[in-house]
Amino acid sequence: MKIFSLLGNKRYTLIIALIIVQASACLIAVNYYSIKLVSATRAYVNAESQYSKAQKKATRYLISFVETRHLESYHLFKKELSIPIGDKLARTGMENGDKYAGIKNNLISGRNHSTDIDDMIWLFNTCSRWPSFNDAIKEWEAGDKGISNLDQLGRDLYKKLIDKSVLLSKEEEESIKLNINLIDTQITQHQEKLADILGKTSRVMTSMLMYFNIVFILLILISAGVFAGEMIRQLIESKKVIERQNDAKDEFMSIASHELKTPLTSMKASLQILERFARTSSEGHRIHPFISNSTKQVNRLIDLVNELLDVTKIQQGKLQLNKTIVSLPDLITEAVEEVKPTSRHEYLIQKMPSAHVYTDRSRISQVIVNFLTNAAKYSPSQTKIIIGTELKENTIKVFVQDFGVGVQENKLPLLFERFYRVEETESIVQGLGLGLYICCEIIKSHNGHIGAKSELGKGSTFWFDLPLAGIS
Ligand code: ADP
Repeated sequence: MKIFSLLGNKRYTLIIALIIVQASACLIAVNYYSIKLVSATRAYVNAESQYSKAQKKATRYLISFVETRHLESYHLFKKELSIPIGDKLARTGMENGDKYAGIKNNLISGRNHSTDIDDMIWLFNTCSRWPSFNDAIKEWEAGDKGISNLDQLGRDLYKKLIDKSVLLSKEEEESIKLNINLIDTQITQHQEKLADILGKTSRVMTSMLMYFNIVFILLILISAGVFAGEMIRQLIESKKVIERQNDAKDEFMSIASHELKTPLTSMKASLQILERFARTSSEGHRIHPFISNSTKQVNRLIDLVNELLDVTKIQQGKLQLNKTIVSLPDLITEAVEEVKPTSRHEYLIQKMPSAHVYTDRSRISQVIVNFLTNAAKYSPSQTKIIIGTELKENTIKVFVQDFGVGVQENKLPLLFERFYRVEETESIVQGLGLGLYICCEIIKSHNGHIGAKSELGKGSTFWFDLPLAGIS
């Protein structure tokens, strides 16, 4: 952790990201060249095997020619010998930097597969200075000298033995055959060494590449781990900053609303006195509309400040509940009576059972009043609002239904979030988007549930349920 703070966070993250990118690029390159190297080495091992087979066959055909003097045997000898000769010409071509086409033709004459040729030339050019590869080339060269000797011996024998009148004694024939076998043995020895070096080189390369792979994979894993650690650390840091900012904001909201509440209450009291005075004085009717407008605005301000105060209480876990057994029908009726004077809507209370709930009377009343005022606010062109209850086994559900603007279904769960307001109604109706959030917290603190269903343009039903305390 100390290292993180020593270096600049962003710079450090960038460096780690760069290491990951570079290590990944190296890993890709190592794997690409691994495949190329292994494939080229395999091609050389295959070439060596073709070379050896052809050399052995050529030896047999030459001996057969000496024994039988059949031209067919000599031709087969030449044909088989053309394979190591092709490889030999390709080698000298690669050493001298000849044209690609010539080297390719010679390698094909050496019975190498056309798809292997590029890798073979690449390996020869790239690694010819490597000590082990250099040793392999030396053995190849020595083998090629033997091939040249065999070729020359074949030509000499052809010239001599084509003339059927030339007769060879048993000893002479045996001596020629011995010489052929001697050259064959020498070539075979060099070929075996070559095969051995190729095998060793390929094993060393494979293990080296494997170590490279492990190193790069470890580097990526370690860097990714450090990167992830740094990201998590930064996230935790940001979360702490946000939490600190939130705490500061909550504290500001709490102080501001407390400070606002006192002058507002005093203004309300003064306005009440003024209103009484205006009613009794002769000229009072002239200023009365101004006083009642001011009272309305002060009441609105007091409601907003109360909402802010409630939110800060909820945030600080200081929402106190004073629970008693309450008659729900009485509570609903009182809430309806409270909102009636400020609204032109018709509130229809359905017949309800005499249910009792163990609740904080004023807080549940606050929820019902909020549902009722919202129902009125968001159904300006309608008049009917229905209030009812539904009794379930251990709970009682209270609902308020309106026939107003409604809410899109996908927005319903958001309504109970802090400061959420539906965009479409934002400009028509004023508010902070805190009412339903407070309702939700109050109901949750009573172990109840809250929700809404709605259809755009047809109306909404907001509901909550509470554990039932009893029915009388
Ligand atoms: P506000 O003070 O903005 O009304 P609320 O938390 O009470 O805050 O409501 C949040 C949002 O939910 C409102 O802005 C409104 O868009 C939507 N809403 C609440 N009640 C209703 C309703 N009865 N009909 C339609 N929309 C409603």
